Amino acid sequence: MWLLVDRFQSIGSPPIEVRHLNCGTMCPIGAKLLVGEGGLLAKARIVAHCLLIEAGGELVLVDTGYGLGDCANPKRLGQPFRSMVLPQLREEETAIRQVEALGHDPKDVRHIVATHLDRDHAGGIGDFPGAEIHLFAGELAAAQNPSGFTERQRYLAEQWGENPDWVEYGAGGDDWFGFESIRVIPGLDAEIALIPLPGHTRGHCGVAINTSDGWLLHAGDAFFFNGEIETPRRCPPGYRLFQTINQADGEKRHANQERLRELEREHGAEVDIFCSHDAKMYDSA
Ligand SMILES: [Zn+2]
Repeated sequence: MWLLVDRFQSIGSPPIEVRHLNCGTMCPIGAKLLVGEGGLLAKARIVAHCLLIEAGGELVLVDTGYGLGDCANPKRLGQPFRSMVLPQLREEETAIRQVEALGHDPKDVRHIVATHLDRDHAGGIGDFPGAEIHLFAGELAAAQNPSGFTERQRYLAEQWGENPDWVEYGAGGDDWFGFESIRVIPGLDAEIALIPLPGHTRGHCGVAINTSDGWLLHAGDAFFFNGEIETPRRCPPGYRLFQTINQADGEKRHANQERLRELEREHGAEVDIFCSHDAKMYDSA
């Protein structure tokens, strides 16, 4: 599943490698209502789609799914969340165990780029205490100073370890297919950018990665179901409801989903768009 790619802009520079990892299978009840297939009471298969990028001898994770601390102490995730989402919490699916299984030293994971800090995305941060965590400033502000019921119940500081090395990025940046784009890890021999897509959370971002096969856009939780970036949008009712319940800003979330549909329509051949939790998109990556 390794994709060997050269950078666009530096002929002769070392290739980067991108591997797709599932760092946390979840099996909520209600497959028909969530993923549109299976029985009403059947369990859905949902993934925590992360990326491991190797560039210039350094490793970069995009999101971390669940971590060792979640597997050792599932209670920290909270009973309502666990009952609704049914995370399987298999240690072998954690990012650190998968990095080790691939023959890497986890200390070589120098950077984590976070789409957002919900507990199904940030659980592995504490497993990489030497890594810088790159994220949009608005997301860190929301996680550190949550406001309102939805924000107050979604973030788990316990997952971040002691003294996390946050690297915040503010608004601004370059144009990327009509979206704002903020380059991260400027010294790295790979072009990786935060694409602000707020709505699901206050500072939610996609992460764009430049490869010689085109761009990858990890859209995080900007959408949940593959049909949501089709025109017209398709989404089973359970997922519609789940996204509405968990949204920080519905207007922005819907507007950004519309922009992603437009991106898929107009630049689908140049940009491979996928989200965090759709197993079909993960399996075909
Ligand atoms: Zn999520």
